[in-house]
Amino acid sequence: MTASPASPAFAASAASCPPMPDFARRPGLLFVDGRFVEAASGRTFDTINPATEAVLTSVAEGDAADIDLAVAAARRAFEDGPWPRMAARERGRILQRIADLVLAHAEELALLEVLDNGKPLSEARAVDIPQSAEVFAYYGGWSDKVSGQVVPVSGDFHAYTLREPVGVCGQIIPWNFPLLMAAWKIAPALACGNTVVLKPAEQTPLTALRLAELLQQAGVPPGVVNVVTGFGPTAGAALAAHPGVDKVAFTGSTEVGRGIQRAAAGNLKRVSLELGGKSPNIVFADADLDRALQGVAGAIFFNQGEVCCAGSRLFVEQSVHEQFTARLVEHARGLRVGDPLDEATQVGSLVSGEQMARVCGYIASGRAEGATLLAGGGRVGQRGFFVEPTVFGRVEPRMRIAQEEIFGPVLCVTPFRDFGEVVAAANATPYGLAASVWTRDLSRAHRAAKALRAGTVWINSGNAFDAAMPFGGCKQSGFGRESGKQALDLYTQDKAVWVGL
Ligand code: ADP
Repeated sequence: MTASPASPAFAASAASCPPMPDFARRPGLLFVDGRFVEAASGRTFDTINPATEAVLTSVAEGDAADIDLAVAAARRAFEDGPWPRMAARERGRILQRIADLVLAHAEELALLEVLDNGKPLSEARAVDIPQSAEVFAYYGGWSDKVSGQVVPVSGDFHAYTLREPVGVCGQIIPWNFPLLMAAWKIAPALACGNTVVLKPAEQTPLTALRLAELLQQAGVPPGVVNVVTGFGPTAGAALAAHPGVDKVAFTGSTEVGRGIQRAAAGNLKRVSLELGGKSPNIVFADADLDRALQGVAGAIFFNQGEVCCAGSRLFVEQSVHEQFTARLVEHARGLRVGDPLDEATQVGSLVSGEQMARVCGYIASGRAEGATLLAGGGRVGQRGFFVEPTVFGRVEPRMRIAQEEIFGPVLCVTPFRDFGEVVAAANATPYGLAASVWTRDLSRAHRAAKALRAGTVWINSGNAFDAAMPFGGCKQSGFGRESGKQALDLYTQDKAVWVGL
């Protein structure tokens, strides 16, 4: 590694750490009904900077009682408040204003995100914050374009559909892209006239709370968006099970997703789940291998591999396998791991000690099961939760590292001989979130796009996102499509109106 937390480079940049935004110094409060309030229990918990392990600030520990209050506020805002009733174009204007405010506070939000999550500042600036703004702007544009249809039915009727909001939406989000996931959830819900109770991940609650202030500043009325910080098994579980919630949208692990679906059955609330992945990258020998190398490395090492669609399994065609893997290993070894605030850093800290232990546990299991460790394989430094970019060779499908989601910078490489073999291997996990195919053969690329069981297939690219494109999973990666116009389906329902003539 070029810069470990113990190295001079790390120490120098840590010393020049900019001051923490004022916002993060405030004692923790929940955002309910347009006001910042203490948790009903009065309890708080600390959120830490994973890169230094220092406490950043304390956050309110909301639980079932706070979820009750937040759901009641969201219900009032939905039944009696102005939001679902206001001109759709005005809602759109407010969403656009949110986008503008996110951009106006980009530097502050980026810093908060990095302090809370450990990701490189350069990535928060380039990806998390501008994409969050884009999502609000995009759905602002949809607000006044969500409409029903006149339907040509038999008989003497004028028949039409109204496309109505679903109601109160419970939204539970993970810690890997905290602000962006909040935007993905909140923006389409608001565009369609719903109200929201958002439960951010306990590891990264700060940008969601700051966003709540910006929403208010943009003109979102009280009760329309409520943010309850707290833990999954208490606040999260209460939200998923709440009888006053009409729809729950969850992004997180497959295991928790299963529990969310069970909890939602109580009142048969609508459910959308964006869960784990074990996404394959397939490199054919005829690919532009320089481009593929950059893409494959980015797919697994971007955001420390803490990405649901991380390209964690790499299949390389036999004839180029050795050469391509050697170059990849060299690339992985050259990545700069260290202080997230240092602009030169390429790989930051994992989000928590728990996550680091989990990732290191998988690395140990890969070794124990007989995979060849080609790069990385250990923690970097003694402070912060840094893990080396890690590459395993000769990984066999039976191994845990080939089947289970690691959610860290760990890549499994396997050679393949032909198309049929690699498609079968790529599809042979319980997941189906995303896949990448690298080839110059047009028809092979499109045949692969059809044959791969994944919600997204990237051809000669990876990790490409746009607010206008749908994203979601097949199999145990979940169901429902967020982003794009498809997300509007999650947050609306059709009402059939028959007029006898
Ligand atoms: P990870 O294992 O990567 O932390 P999780 O799926 O546990 O991912 O967490 C994603 C989100 O789900 C977080 O906001 C977390 O608090 C929440 N969560 C965790 N457990 C539960 C649960 N039992 N019910 C509802 N939400 C939960």
